[in-house]
Amino acid sequence: MKDSEGLLLVISGPAGAGKGTVVKMLTQDENIRLSISATTRAPRGTEQDGVEYHFMTKEGFEQLIGENGFIEYAKYVDNYYGTPRRPVEQWMSQGKDVILEIEVQGCEKVKSAIPGCISIFIMPPSLEELESRLRGRGTETEENIIKRMTRAKEEIPLSEGYDYVVTNDTVERCANEIKEIIKAEKVARA
Ligand code: 5GP
Repeated sequence: MKDSEGLLLVISGPAGAGKGTVVKMLTQDENIRLSISATTRAPRGTEQDGVEYHFMTKEGFEQLIGENGFIEYAKYVDNYYGTPRRPVEQWMSQGKDVILEIEVQGCEKVKSAIPGCISIFIMPPSLEELESRLRGRGTETEENIIKRMTRAKEEIPLSEGYDYVVTNDTVERCANEIKEIIKAEKVARA
């Protein structure tokens, strides 16, 4: 990463940890951009193509893999998820800070490809709270909730490999802690 470039922040955490809401709060700052991932999973609830995700077919996704169109991609609970390369590189070169909200395998790949990135793991206050948030969405099947909870139990120990772990007890406190991390990283790099 060059000095004039923005920061690349990788944010992970179990599904239901509240990453999406925290990230929404952070991206109210116009210098912080959120990368819109591509996925082969079906839209959930009110999700729209190009807003929450670029929804793609498996064939389309695999074609883009072949064209080196992703910074990283991973399989998570039966579907592909990936970070399109072009917008992220453009924003960073314009000095914007870019957030990738991705799962743990993707984070590992970004760390190897872009060593200057900052990794943050958002931890739910407890597994009970996580399950109740997943159920509260009302958009997941029972099978999916079980798969996501199983994945969460695998992911939480991997938080040790992240630069920062932030507990999402309240969205506001969690977002403020991340803003402080961004400020501190900028001072350290200047
Ligand atoms: P969901 O289906 O709940 O939207 O996302 C499932 C998981 O995939 C979440 O942990 C989310 O952070 C992760 N994810 C979303 N986009 C990407 C991506 O581009 N790459 C990777 N590796 N994971 C992603």
